[in-house]
Amino acid sequence: MTGDGQKVNGLTYKDRQTGESRHVELEGIFVQIGLLPNSDWLKGAIELSQRGEIMVDARGETDLPGIFAAGDVTTAPYKQIIIAMGEGAKASLAAFDHLIRA
Ligand SMILES: Cc1cc2nc3c(=O)[nH]c(=O)nc-3n(C[C@H](O)[C@H](O)[C@H](O)COP(=O)(O)OP(=O)(O)OC[C@H]3O[C@@H](n4cnc5c(N)ncnc54)[C@H](O)[C@@H]3O)c2cc1C
Repeated sequence: MTGDGQKVNGLTYKDRQTGESRHVELEGIFVQIGLLPNSDWLKGAIELSQRGEIMVDARGETDLPGIFAAGDVTTAPYKQIIIAMGEGAKASLAAFDHLIRA
């Protein structure tokens, strides 16, 4: 980020494809973080999407029977709080359902 001592006025960044350093003039910046799921530790244990999201079915179950997942880390679309809460409730009920049928 660059600024005039009072406020931000631009952003200097490195183009990952060309390695070139570029600068854009801006009047404000909104920082968006958290696009990569923290799921590396599950690689090889549970099926992940190309983006590293845990693949879940409509009940939140993974490809490992009895293992459920919910929230932003899964393939459920729309990364929003209310979605994660609903998916969590659904996965909990599905886990309960799984256990009483076992
Ligand atoms: C900048 C930003 C702004 C956002 N604004 C909005 C908004 O305005 N409205 C909205 O609805 N949503 C917003 N979201 C999205 C919202 O935050 C997420 O959808 C929601 O938090 C997902 O909940 P979650 O429980 O799935 O994941 P998280 O809230 O990310 O919780 C996951 C938790 O697991 C922990 N964790 C990770 N790995 C491990 C591990 N190996 N062992 C133990 N713990 C671990 C993390 O530390 C974290 O506490 C925003 C997100 C970001 C990044």
